[in-house]
Amino acid sequence: MKKLIGLILVICFILISMMLPKEKQAFSATYVTHATHAPHEKSIDQHMKFVQAITYQQLLFHAGKITKEYVKPPKQWGLSVDGVKQRLDTDDRVIALTFDACGSETGNGIDQDLIDFLIAHDISATLFFNKRWIDHNKDEFIQIASNDQFQIENHGTHHKPLSVNGQQAYGINGTSSPQEVIAEVMENYQTIYQLTGIKSRYFRSGTAHYDEVSVSLLQSLGMEVVNFDINGDAGATYSANQVKQSLLQAQPGSIAIMHMNQPDSGTAEGVKMAVPLLQKKGFHFVKLEEYPIIE
Ligand SMILES: [Zn+2]
Repeated sequence: MKKLIGLILVICFILISMMLPKEKQAFSATYVTHATHAPHEKSIDQHMKFVQAITYQQLLFHAGKITKEYVKPPKQWGLSVDGVKQRLDTDDRVIALTFDACGSETGNGIDQDLIDFLIAHDISATLFFNKRWIDHNKDEFIQIASNDQFQIENHGTHHKPLSVNGQQAYGINGTSSPQEVIAEVMENYQTIYQLTGIKSRYFRSGTAHYDEVSVSLLQSLGMEVVNFDINGDAGATYSANQVKQSLLQAQPGSIAIMHMNQPDSGTAEGVKMAVPLLQKKGFHFVKLEEYPIIE
């Protein structure tokens, strides 16, 4: 009799498992794995592939479910808190040039001189777009995004520092809750996806400031926060010569942050001076996605 009951239970279990939608099984399996183990590179990569495969609505639903876990006081605040990636994991003589397009009334420009130089010399780069900039330059955004030389990533919706409890950076109020963190990231994720079909996987906030709780929240959505080890143009305030000098500090695997939304800055001229000098030293320019990234 006991054997019969056992057999019936096993059959019931198999039938119920078969009736569950495949995607939901995958979702809960990934969720449990992520919640119980510190994710190493490989599992994050697998997780990213999974997240890239699901729709925006599913991702948002997942995000809504997990926000409760991230209501806790952060311990860190700044440019390089736990989980923020700042370099490529390699000894190859490669540099990832990254350019932010920030938006705002004084930041909706496009540095065409810079973009033309990168295209003419076949220099790969990663571009982080804010939603305000995209909304103001839709046609240009779609055109730039169609060029494989550029990796397209997410620079936020309202250009806010990423905080679960309203921290500030340079006098700018950060997001104030896990829900607002998700809105800051996902609204622009959706904009990029709708205009280009690209599912961005790297994020850099306005001001590049974070707390470690926000960073781990994004990691659980299959995204990585990417900052830099070379401050290439200091918010597009450097002269061309300062930009050149900064870029020449690059080491194998360096990530440089600069801006592509301030055509009157010294950024384009500085890049034009630095690129041939770095090439002479044997450096190549790569997109972020070409190498693993590390803190
Ligand atoms: Zn910015």
